[in-house]
Amino acid sequence: MSLVVVGSMAFDAIETPFGKSDKIIGGAGTFIAWCASNFTGVKQISVVGGDFPQSELDALSARGVALEGVQIKKDEKTFFWSGRYHMDMNTRDTLVTELNVLGDFKPVVPDSYQDCEFLMLGNLAPAVQSSVIKQLKNKPKLIVMDTMNFWMDIALDDLKHTLSLVDVLMVNDSEARQLSGDYSLVRAAQKISAMGPKFVIIKKGEHGALLFHENQIFSAPALPLEDVFDPTGAGDTFAGGFIAHLAKTKDISFNNMKTAIIVGSALASFAVEKFGTERLRSLTKEEISGRINEFVQLSTFDISLV
Ligand code: AMP
Repeated sequence: MSLVVVGSMAFDAIETPFGKSDKIIGGAGTFIAWCASNFTGVKQISVVGGDFPQSELDALSARGVALEGVQIKKDEKTFFWSGRYHMDMNTRDTLVTELNVLGDFKPVVPDSYQDCEFLMLGNLAPAVQSSVIKQLKNKPKLIVMDTMNFWMDIALDDLKHTLSLVDVLMVNDSEARQLSGDYSLVRAAQKISAMGPKFVIIKKGEHGALLFHENQIFSAPALPLEDVFDPTGAGDTFAGGFIAHLAKTKDISFNNMKTAIIVGSALASFAVEKFGTERLRSLTKEEISGRINEFVQLSTFDISLV
């Protein structure tokens, strides 16, 4: 039984008010895999060009990430994305999107991935996401999907179809409002849930995340950090920590999802400390449990009601 991850593997170039990176390794699938492999094995589905460094693929293999589902198109170029963050480090402008190999990506699920129990659909065209679901012979125990406003603008029908096939949707607050047409996040979650996903996670950047399921709500904080260096991939890292905790514990109850959100938030708080995937590569088990403990301290209090 396994965790299958679908997502972009990319080159990114990032500008923040505090610095600028050259072309570095990025991509939603890359962040998810680096994060999730702290907890469980990962079976990766993606596509790269001949320019993607073999050393990067080797580094992921060495962490227990299976790459049989990663297509290498030798004569083509890897997906490239460039973004510039505003002073608040929360909002950004996309400067360049070169789809390259991602333009006509047709994922193929290898036979060795058919034991998929947990499926993480990273942010990609919704038709690509649903094609992976359709190739699986058995329905996974849990399908989690990430998406973004871009797909709401250009592929809403495909997005609604994919939504009808998944269990959990992760979006940020503005995307939840756009998708539902409702400013209230509570009503937005109800409306999104009616489209398919019985669990809705709404991310609020530095203000944490909300989990909605039927009439239950859980609110998780984000760790207040002195410095945020590069927020790129924070959402993907959050997703990786969330699904990897569920896959490791094999428990998809609301209660365990609360813990999974804290694990995702803790890992995301590391991701922003350095450019790209750099911080995730050097993480130790002790650092991860220390950070999860900080979250517990952050939101635990005693109260006696009279
Ligand atoms: P996040 O900061 O969590 O939104 O994710 C940023 C990552 O998503 C970057 O590493 C990009 O390479 C990747 N990315 C940006 N736009 C797209 C897109 N249209 N499709 C797939 N991946 C993307």
